[in-house]
Parts: sequence; structure tokens; C-alpha cells
Amino acid sequence: MNLETREILVNGAYIVASILFILGLKMLGRQGTARRGNLLSGVGMLIAIVVTLLDRHIIDYHWIALGLVAGTVIGLACARLIKMTSMPEMVALLNGFGGLASLIVGAAEYFRIRGGTVLPDHPAFTATVIALTILIGGITFTGSVYAFCKLAEWLSGRPILFSGQHVVNGLLVAITVVAGGLYVVTGDPAMQLLAFGAFTLGSLILGWTLVMPIGGGDMPVVISMLNSLSGLAACAAGFVISNNVLIVAGCLVGTSGVILTAIMCKAMNRSLANVLFSGFGAAPAATNAGEPGATVHGELKPISAEDSFAVLEAARQVVIIPGYGMAVSQAQHVVRELAEMLENNGAEVRFAIHPVAGRMPGHMNVLLAEANVPYEQLVEMDAINPLMPSMDVAIVIGANDVVNPAAASDKASPIYGMPIINAHEARTVICLKRGKGTGFSGLENQLFLRPNTRMLYGDAKGSLQGVVAEFKSLAAG
Ligand code: NAP
Repeated sequence: MNLETREILVNGAYIVASILFILGLKMLGRQGTARRGNLLSGVGMLIAIVVTLLDRHIIDYHWIALGLVAGTVIGLACARLIKMTSMPEMVALLNGFGGLASLIVGAAEYFRIRGGTVLPDHPAFTATVIALTILIGGITFTGSVYAFCKLAEWLSGRPILFSGQHVVNGLLVAITVVAGGLYVVTGDPAMQLLAFGAFTLGSLILGWTLVMPIGGGDMPVVISMLNSLSGLAACAAGFVISNNVLIVAGCLVGTSGVILTAIMCKAMNRSLANVLFSGFGAAPAATNAGEPGATVHGELKPISAEDSFAVLEAARQVVIIPGYGMAVSQAQHVVRELAEMLENNGAEVRFAIHPVAGRMPGHMNVLLAEANVPYEQLVEMDAINPLMPSMDVAIVIGANDVVNPAAASDKASPIYGMPIINAHEARTVICLKRGKGTGFSGLENQLFLRPNTRMLYGDAKGSLQGVVAEFKSLAAG
């Protein structure tokens, strides 16, 4: 086969793979088609990988085979061993590895060119895309590792701030950009190597220092942004090695990440600049000092599973508000069972989904879909809030920050301005949690002290099983 025919076949296969990626992404948007969408994108990726492996540029398959085997073994082990609750950390780490892979591609290409005749083979365009790959890949890698450490609670979720931080970060950005520019324009090989080292190091430090001042509460935005950056790094790496399908795949990840970042910013009612530079969550815990009457003086009022059943049995409008605690206790299946029993008892049941509930975008949707909760029962925050005063009971299952009224009423609270689900407006609120643990942002929640709130203590799954058992004994006779 001559070179031209080969190029046409390879690029034709890449176009087919790209179409499958796009169709797959579209199908991921609906619960009914999501599995097939995932499969379709996977087939697209398989085509892209196989065709690339058959490409003429490959001169030795040994390292590739080793990488494929190692990657498959690690991937399979992770898929089997990582718990659902650790998925957010896993996603953060995968974003980081995406960034690191792109960085390595950029660096490998630089040293390959350097090993040759250096500058004549190193036009400004190649140097620029190598610089971009390293810059974005480096920031993504260390930023994601930092996000991973925060999510895994290896590091505190609170923002780390010091005086002059913006100046230090500004200087770092300036040094990295200048070193990158020097690398692109210099004609001196020694200077080029020095500049290359400086901006690679600068990019790696920048990723760490940029995520450092961002508080745990803003992690959803950070994760989606890093996801987007990992796509852009892959796209730049695609330009470095002139691989069209890598450019397309990188663009798709990059743009979908940008859309997700915008959605997450909206969910937090914050601009991206505010998230990146304000040190959200740095203020002391909520004092409610700013708003007269906002502080609720009360006590936590426990309720038993039997009494919860009595309240629920009489309810006609019930809203279930799931949060991270539902994921921890894996209570989604018993939640669905309870919802069915309530419906059989004549109640209308809705699930109120906060966009940042849990620890990753769409966390609650994934869990409830796994438990076969009908998609039509899921109601978004903006749609459920106007209905909240008409709800007989709101069942808060392991949610805390996303139902914290301080976000709406306490100007002194670090989460002031973040939209919440107005659980406190329901006639009765039953909160399921294990004890006095705070939410992810570390803030106390005055919802638990309100006169209409009752606390059903214990692991959410066990507590719900208790309530379900009451319904079953009612049905039995
Ligand atoms: P949350 O504020 O983290 O609160 C979870 C609550 O669940 C805790 O108060 C805890 O109290 C309870 N809990 C834990 N394990 C439990 C169990 N086994 N049974 C019953 N209760 C249990 O959760 P959220 O309201 O869903 O808010 C999410 C937070 O995470 C937000 O601050 C958000 O910004 C942040 N975040 C979100 C994402 C994302 O993409 N969605 C990513 C990173 C961070 P006890 O310890 O007393 O049981």
C-alpha cells in the first residue's frame, strides 16, 4: 500500500472514531441511552488505538505492548477494587494522569528533536505546541494530585492562604510564561534546554499553588476545570505529534469540561475568577452575625424509625434530598424501596438533586440511576425550591452543605450566596446522619436545630431499612 492510500485510510478511520465519540457523548446526556453511548465512544477509542498502532510511525512495539499490559492490569484492578465513594478521587487522579501523559509526550518530542539537528527541525509552531502541552499538562498533573489529596482527606479541605499569595502566584506565572517564550524563540541550544527546564518546573509548581488556596467547597468547579485542562493538554499533544484523532478527542474533553465548569460555577453562584482567587471557605465558621434572626437557638431533636414512619405514613407530598452520606452508606437501593412504599401509600414522591451534592458532578444521578429510580422523579434545585413550602416532609439523606440555610441567610458565612435546596421550608424535615459531623465545607448547619427538623441518627441505609420495615409490617397486616 502506498503512503498516500495509507494516510487516507488512517484519517478515514479517525473520522469514523471522531463521529463515534460525538454520538457517544450525545447519548450520555440521557439515562436511557447512556450505557450505549459509553460503549459507542469505547468502540471509537478502540478504532483510534488500533489504527494508530498500525500506523507507519511506529518502529518498535515492545514498550507499547508493555504499556498496554500494565495499563490494562491497573485499569481492571481499579475498576474492581475502587469503591463508588472513592470515584471522585479516582476521577481527579485520572485527570492528573491525562495531564502527565501529555507532558511526557511534549517532553519526548522535544528531546527527540534535540537529539537530531535541533533548531532547523524545531520550527516555532512545534516549539509553541510543545510549550503549551507542557504548561497545561504540568498544571493539570500537580493540580489534580492536590485535588486528589483534598478529596481523599490526605490534606485538609480548607484553603491554604498566606500573605502575598497572589504576588507569588503572579510571579510564578510570569517566570513560566517568559521561560516558555524564551524556549520558543531562542537560537541557542543550551539556553533552550535551560528555558525548557524552567518552564516545565514552573508549570508543575503552578498547578500545586493554584489549587492550594481553593477551599473544599469549590472542589466541584476545580475538578471540572482540571478535566477540561486535561483535554486541552491532550489536544496540544495531538498537534505535537500531528495526530488528528488526539486533537479531536482532546477538544471534546476540553469543551465538555468547560461546559461542566460553567454549570458548576452557576451551581455555586460564583464566577470562575472568584473560585480561583478568593480562597472560599477561609473565613471562620458561620457566626450568623450579619443577619438578625438568622441564628436559630435550639437543640437537636432525635426521632426514631417508628416515629419517622408515623410522620411519613400521613404525608402526601414527600421530597427526598440525597447527599454525600447516601453514597457513603450505599443507601440508594433502600431509598428507592422507601419511595415505592410511599407511593403505594398514596404520596407523591420527588427526588431533589443539587448539582454539587456528593463528591463529583452528577454523583446523585449516577447512584439513583443504579438503583433504577425513574429519571422523571428527579427534580433539579431550581424546579423544586418553589414547591418546597407545599411539601409535607423533606427527607434529607446524608446531605448537609447543600441544605445549609446559612448559604441563603447568613452574610457572614463563607458559603453565603451558594444556592441550596430549601429543605427548611418543608413542613417537617427528617435528617438522616450518623452524628454531629459537619458537611464537606466544615460548617455547622442550623437546619438541624430548626423547630420543624427531626434527626434520625445512624447509618443512612440502616435507618431507612428501619422505616421500610415499618411500612412492610403495615402492609403485612
Ligand atoms: P456534605 O456536606 O459532605 O455532608 C455529608 C453528610 O453526610 C455529613 O454531614 C455526614 O454527617 C453525613 N454522612 C456521612 N456518612 C453517612 C452515613 N453513612 N449515613 C448517614 N449520613 C452520613 O454533603 P452534601 O450536602 O452532598 O454536599 C456536598 C459537598 O461536597 C459540598 O460542599 C460540595 O461543594 C462538595 N463537593 C462536591 C463535589 C461535586 O462535584 N459534587 C466535589 C467535591 C466537593 P455525619 O458524619 O454526622 O454522618
